[in-house]
Amino acid sequence: LLSVTGLRKNYGLVEVLKGMDFEVTAGEKIALIGPSGSGKSTCLLCLNFLEKPNAGEIHLDGERIGVKLGRAMSDRQLAPQRAEMGMVFQLFNLWPHLSVTENVAIAARKVRGLSAREAHELALEMLAKVHMTHRADASPLELSGGQQQRVAIARALAQKPKLMLFDEPTSALDPELVHEVLKVMEELAAEGRTMLIVTHEIAFARDIADRVMFLDGGTIVEQGPARELILSPREARTQAFLKQIR
Ligand code: ATP
Ligand code: MG
Repeated sequence: LLSVTGLRKNYGLVEVLKGMDFEVTAGEKIALIGPSGSGKSTCLLCLNFLEKPNAGEIHLDGERIGVKLGRAMSDRQLAPQRAEMGMVFQLFNLWPHLSVTENVAIAARKVRGLSAREAHELALEMLAKVHMTHRADASPLELSGGQQQRVAIARALAQKPKLMLFDEPTSALDPELVHEVLKVMEELAAEGRTMLIVTHEIAFARDIADRVMFLDGGTIVEQGPARELILSPREARTQAFLKQIR
């Protein structure tokens, strides 16, 4: 489904991604782990050109992202490609002046061009998936962090993306709220969705992911089946990282 080759990104003179190659097949769940500053967030941002890569190619379903006929695409041209990747960030960034349902519906209207009515129905459907139907008319300001993040997940789902990208979706939450968000993600995984998840929740990665990729210093140091990589990593750097976060 997704193919990444030779992905490089510099910020000024600093090389943050030093040539990443990986594939994600349809339905696969991949956990991307690695130390702070290793380039995990940058990698996700480059996939849909929220950050422009310096080199490399990204294809989604065979279509090149961000480049058409050898030329960089405009934001307008990029919009439909970005819609195929539903992003969930550490901070939820919901609109405080809109209701929960409106926050989700607006994604479907803007990105998929649905009518107000269709978008509203889709929003309710997605809110049910994240168990937030009972707060559909609330303001995001009235919700806990875990509830807000579940709404943000519903918003990403309402784009009908081919691929879901998560960047540490639970790391800004109070510990007692982490579980409800992980549970929703587990349910999405069970639906067969394709998911690329940056996380420090190693037990979650071990149980949910098909494959784990360990990123360090802008390169994939090691990747493999989740249990195997987490229980018996081959590379010294992976071993040191896992030992230190346990
Ligand atoms: P964390 O686990 O802390 O979220 P990360 O693996 O997501 O870390 P990135 O956020 O991708 O790491 O950052 C990788 C490197 O790129 C870091 O050294 C960071 O300082 C640098 N960096 C990230 N964004 C920018 C930017 N917009 N401008 C300049 N440097 C940046
Ligand atoms: Mg990050």
